[in-house]
Amino acid sequence: MEKRFIYADNAATTKVSDAVLNAMLPYFNEQYGNASSIYGMGRNAKRDLEVSREKVAKALSCDPKEIYFTSCGSEADNWAIKGVCERLAPRGKKHIITSVFEHHAVLHTCEALERQGFEVTYISIDENGIINLDELKNAIREDTAIVSIMYANNEIGTIQPIKEIAEICQEHDVIFHTDAVQAIGSVEINVKELGVDLLALSGHKIHAPKGVGALYIRKGLVLPNFIHGGAQERNKRGGTENIPAIVGLGVAMEEVTTGIPQRVENVTKLRNKLIDGILEIPHTRLNGDREKRLCGNCNISIEGIEGESILLMLDMYGICASSGSACTSGSLDPSHVMLSLGLSHEIAHGSVRFSISDETTEQDIDYILEVMPKIVNRLREMSPLWEKIIEAEG
Ligand SMILES: *Cc1c(COP(=O)(O)O)cnc(C)c1O
Repeated sequence: MEKRFIYADNAATTKVSDAVLNAMLPYFNEQYGNASSIYGMGRNAKRDLEVSREKVAKALSCDPKEIYFTSCGSEADNWAIKGVCERLAPRGKKHIITSVFEHHAVLHTCEALERQGFEVTYISIDENGIINLDELKNAIREDTAIVSIMYANNEIGTIQPIKEIAEICQEHDVIFHTDAVQAIGSVEINVKELGVDLLALSGHKIHAPKGVGALYIRKGLVLPNFIHGGAQERNKRGGTENIPAIVGLGVAMEEVTTGIPQRVENVTKLRNKLIDGILEIPHTRLNGDREKRLCGNCNISIEGIEGESILLMLDMYGICASSGSACTSGSLDPSHVMLSLGLSHEIAHGSVRFSISDETTEQDIDYILEVMPKIVNRLREMSPLWEKIIEAEG
């Protein structure tokens, strides 16, 4: 078998697309002006910054004035949640609702606010990785400032009922933020139809570069400044704009929000082949709802072995994948997402995530499916845990 290179970790980051790269290049050493400068090159930068804002706005069906560029998805999440809390705390609203399986950009922000005296309610997910709407309804209080629920989960790929959540929040007059970092490009998003107040996105998950993101802030909702400094981003976020990355983000948003149904159909077909193929290995289970999930996500627990060992062996075969989320690798605790599904520590430990893209080919899937049983057999042969499982079965 010939060794190949297969990138199946698009939920961790993505390759910058050719169109994005080409659009960005002139801004490094030809059109390198500061968008605040008044001479031609500065004005051009300002113009191109605003063109990019229009592209992002168009991709989300909102007004360009509702888009604020940030340095990453994490910053957008931080700004949304801390901003609303800072704004509403003086009115006695010091309660936050989020879910147990958010990205750390949201969870750790909530924890930081908890230490400042805010109270946080964490909504659970069911065994399929979907949020419980009744639990959400019951959690809303007089003093709830914000609800923050992710659009799609980065580990198990499950897509949440965002429109229903937005309706619930509107009925109760509570601000709703969604971390849509993983959903962009896989779900058609019209922020007006959805009814969200705040939505965070990130460049490097959608074939733009790392280090750029954006926050949609619904018109009428006023957030405090996040970074004090110059007058950039309509006085809300100081810091000289990263024009190359912002231009790249605009092009990426255009690219990934074009032709979504066709792309989803193609990628889903390959993804299902991957899921079904791996599930043929005995003692495996798919994590997260099979239907309500991102087209590129395949997250499977493999009993008796450790996710980390699978990853190392996959790497030897030239396959990039992930277990838990990239942010937590290096830690021995199973991911909070796996545990919140109700999985035991052992099974949570043995999970592997492949996140494919529209560049993934059928040959790539065949190769992964050829390699996986070999790896699993090999690791199980050496695993005392697997021995126990087999003995227990008799
Ligand atoms: C990657 C990711 C983030 C963080 O985005 P960065 O741009 O890397 O800061 C936030 N939320 C989710 C769901 C993500 O997958």
